[in-house]
Amino acid sequence: MQYFLDGYRSGDPRIQPVAEGRSEVQGPLPEEVDVLIVGTGPAGLLLAAQLSTFPEIVTRVVEKADGPLEVGRADGIACRTVEMFEAFGLAEKLTTEAYWINETHFWGPAPGDTSRITRLGRVQDVRDGLSEFPHVIVNQARLLDFLLEYMHNSPSRLGVDYGHETLEVKVPENPDERVTVRLKTAEGEKTVRARYVVGCDGAHSVVRESIGRVPQGHGEDKAWGVMDVLAVTDFPDIRFKCTIQSAEAGNILLIPREGGYMVRLYVDMGNIAPDAWLTKEEVLAKAQAVLAPYTFEVKETAWFSVYRVGHRVTDKFDDVDDDQVESRTPRVFIAGDACHTHTAKAGQGMNVSMQDTFNLGWKLISVLEGRSPASLLHTYNDERHVIAENLIEMDTRWSRAIGAAQDSDDPEAAMKGLAEVQRQFVTNSEFTAGFATHYTPALLTGDDRHLHLASGFPPGRRFHSAEVIRLGDAKQVHLGHVHRADGRWRLYAFADMVDPRSPSSRFNALMDYLASDASPIRRFTPKGADPDAIFDVHGIIQQSHLEVDWADMHALLKPHKGPLGLQDYQKAHAPVLGTDQDIFDLRGIDRGAGALVVVRPDQYVSLVLPLDGFDALDAFFSGFMVEPN
Ligand SMILES: Cc1cc2nc3c(=O)[nH]c(=O)nc-3n(C[C@H](O)[C@H](O)[C@H](O)COP(=O)(O)OP(=O)(O)OC[C@H]3O[C@@H](n4cnc5c(N)ncnc54)[C@H](O)[C@@H]3O)c2cc1C
Repeated sequence: MQYFLDGYRSGDPRIQPVAEGRSEVQGPLPEEVDVLIVGTGPAGLLLAAQLSTFPEIVTRVVEKADGPLEVGRADGIACRTVEMFEAFGLAEKLTTEAYWINETHFWGPAPGDTSRITRLGRVQDVRDGLSEFPHVIVNQARLLDFLLEYMHNSPSRLGVDYGHETLEVKVPENPDERVTVRLKTAEGEKTVRARYVVGCDGAHSVVRESIGRVPQGHGEDKAWGVMDVLAVTDFPDIRFKCTIQSAEAGNILLIPREGGYMVRLYVDMGNIAPDAWLTKEEVLAKAQAVLAPYTFEVKETAWFSVYRVGHRVTDKFDDVDDDQVESRTPRVFIAGDACHTHTAKAGQGMNVSMQDTFNLGWKLISVLEGRSPASLLHTYNDERHVIAENLIEMDTRWSRAIGAAQDSDDPEAAMKGLAEVQRQFVTNSEFTAGFATHYTPALLTGDDRHLHLASGFPPGRRFHSAEVIRLGDAKQVHLGHVHRADGRWRLYAFADMVDPRSPSSRFNALMDYLASDASPIRRFTPKGADPDAIFDVHGIIQQSHLEVDWADMHALLKPHKGPLGLQDYQKAHAPVLGTDQDIFDLRGIDRGAGALVVVRPDQYVSLVLPLDGFDALDAFFSGFMVEPN
């Protein structure tokens, strides 16, 4: 954590000073805002948290419920989501409270005595080296609390306007006019005019309907009884995530929960009428039958629901029709369940929803801060729609595999089906961990032509962190953790082999270029702003931190910033030499040539370039950035 840049303050450094013109309490909903977020699920609050650090952007969040969510709903948090939470400084809190899924176990009818269930397999949940963070489980309500607290501690002290139901969104023909949003509140109807509206209002989205977008796909045939319970049992794997298939009684998905005692059961209740409801007693009886002969005595039910959702993707995630993309820019967006719904079996609901708005957030910031033209916003639909399609495809395949094992009357076929479930679990693991996202070459993503210089950082994939030693204080840190959710670009310059103090070092020549008036850093950073206000450059040398002093590094890596002109000591790094954790080996950096890795504000790699790829770097940023006035 870096703080005190603006001067010393006592107290918790996570609580930012209130921005000028803002107050501790945000006050009544104004008639005009920059961004109106509808809905406080994971998608809405992740976006709100990101925008809250920009007090110059007037953001408000409306929610039809009277207060925050308290129990239930989703609980699976993929490794990728924890990486994203690290950018908000929330990963430690999350992983401390959460249950960690280390292994998944597969139970089925015991060979030779199918009246019993037995453990048929166990698989490591996340393969080694995929991420520095685990796959965890925590209540959706608790995760939302973290985001609400972050917003509250931000310079804009952003809160939620509860009891505000969005009734309708109207987009005027004139692009200079704001979007009108009609709201129902306890005091009557209100109208808010917003530059941008983001519908994070769930599967039955009113925002989606208002802009004429339609979810396409099919309904779910099965109903799942979901219960969070505190129970006493002799089932030995109660603290492992398990898929449990009995020969006669059906199947359940068991997910241990945070705190060490609670478990969640997803109980397959088969096909029931669309409007039928089930009692928790019916669901529990079924779960007990599946677990037999093990006993399962519920002492308290914390939450119960019947969850039934189809596989659907909305046709487009913004208000601009395909034939108008050249002439109009989007002003209304939808995200999360408003765009895609699928079963809970792969635990993707919260994760993909928050990734949607992490993708959108920095783009809205860039446009509203005047750094990029509004056409940048087309890339939200372009990038996220295909991700949603892939998600639905994976979830359909996975549901089918589970279904085939479950619906077979023949124990041998069921056994084969279970083997297929286990195989697919392993095959899908990159997807379920959140790492299958691969943006294809386009405005914000380069191609693979220089990938040989840094093979572990493919463009379009998330920046895969590894450890380094900070030159300024010899602290071993994760390089990717310098990345904050602050809308800035990261440029990681991996040095060539030459001593960085030598005039023939290409690393140093790159630093000279980046510091020059010709570089995109100078051209696109507003005059008077900190030198790293838009681009945060980090240098990683190949020599030991014992050989090269921080003081010897290029001035670009030691900028003076803030009102006091303090110097930043955290931008120069060395590898962890003599171990298998050397970042140059781990991420396939060409030691002779070095490499420049350009990372987007949402942690995805845009480009890998040679250290002298000045023109390509300039052309890339000139494609979607505008010089400040
Ligand atoms: C009842 C329920 C049970 C679920 N159970 C599970 C589960 O067991 N396992 C699982 O993995 N996933 C479950 N999910 C799905 C999971 O919660 C979602 O995938 C995830 O929360 C998606 O996040 P989101 O932000 O897109 O939408 P949501 O979390 O649905 O959030 C939408 C928000 O918008 C608000 N809203 C809706 N309409 C309006 C309006 N007109 N005006 C203002 N506010 C509005 C809602 O009150 C809500 O707070 C459940 C969802 C629901 C609704």
